[in-house]
Amino acid sequence: MATGDLTQCVLTPRIPTEGFDPVGVGVHRASTILFDNAVAYASRGERGEKGYSYGLYGTPTTRTLEEKLTQLEHAARTFLAPSGQAANALAVMAFLNEGDHILLADTVYPPMRDFAGSDLARMGIAVDFFDPTDLDDLQARIRSNTRIVWCESPGSTTMELMDLPAAAELAHEAGALLGVDNTWATPLNLKPLTLGADIVTEALTKYVSGHSDVLMGSISVRDPALAKPVSDMIGRMGIGTSPDDASLVLRGFETLGVRLRHSGTVAQHFAERLADSPMVSRVLFPGLSTMSGHHIFKRDFFGSSGVFSLTFPESVAPHVSPALDHLSVFGIGASWGGTRSLAAPMSVGTSRSATRWEEPDVILRLSIGLEDEGELWEDLQRLIAALVKLSAVSGVAE
Ligand SMILES: *Cc1c(COP(=O)(O)O)cnc(C)c1O
Repeated sequence: MATGDLTQCVLTPRIPTEGFDPVGVGVHRASTILFDNAVAYASRGERGEKGYSYGLYGTPTTRTLEEKLTQLEHAARTFLAPSGQAANALAVMAFLNEGDHILLADTVYPPMRDFAGSDLARMGIAVDFFDPTDLDDLQARIRSNTRIVWCESPGSTTMELMDLPAAAELAHEAGALLGVDNTWATPLNLKPLTLGADIVTEALTKYVSGHSDVLMGSISVRDPALAKPVSDMIGRMGIGTSPDDASLVLRGFETLGVRLRHSGTVAQHFAERLADSPMVSRVLFPGLSTMSGHHIFKRDFFGSSGVFSLTFPESVAPHVSPALDHLSVFGIGASWGGTRSLAAPMSVGTSRSATRWEEPDVILRLSIGLEDEGELWEDLQRLIAALVKLSAVSGVAE
């Protein structure tokens, strides 16, 4: 080794980037950021929300994704989190104190119910659930110490639509914040902050990243005054989001609009056709005119995504699980919003308390991906044929 080589290995030359203007966003990895001089380092804390001081507090890559979401959500600011569930948990925790009360829609993403019932309750926060389709129920359960009303529209798995503007009014009258997990609709199909919500979260893991290979979430706030409690808490808890992952989400984001429109259209076709099948009790899809709450969908949403659920008659429900093995194009798996169509048998009975699930507790959640529509429909026909056969056989046996 020549003298100086060791140093040269470490001190990477700076190549000018002027004139280099790629379509995609660069991946800026950093923990350490260098400062021009000692004074700049000493005053790094004064650089403000747009400045850089340490990788944990943001890089050009993560800030680009946050800015894109801020614009689409019509938000004051957006913060990334390492998963959708982390975004949900952090979004409520930033505003709750011991003695406060949180109200959650009965149909929220089940890990959120779990988080509230275990961790929030442990921290001295009163937790209660309400029927998202009944605003009188919401109103009756609001207390003087209610700090947050948390909801999801449509609800996880069972797709109940909620009147967000009316809920926002009830929450605000009581001095509470309205938070909405907007993962199903994405910021393209519903903009909760323009309907009165104060906080919106997205599981970017689903449609926005779109390829089932990354976990991320976002928290956006409408009022700039709500930004500081979130950013301060995320910093203190040391929650950072990988720039590599953020760049994957940014890449997926570019095609979100066309993917979503396609999946939503195919889902609408399938939902309409499956509604006629005697093997199916109900198709739970906001885009169906027979769906309760469809008027809310028409009023507030710009379109639908490709996730919907099926419920089954008593005689068919036990056969859903074995019939799934007849699918060959749909994959069987959790999560959704990727390129691959997925089927997942769900049960909701144990995650309801303000409402009761009255149908057989086998709900099939379908996520329509980007495969050929005809082949996907043939696959669903195979599933239906298997249900017909299995129910007939067990019918004879009974
Ligand atoms: C999947 C999902 C989440 C959680 O996202 P992760 O990134 O998997 O943690 C949150 N909310 C809803 C509605 C979801 O469907």
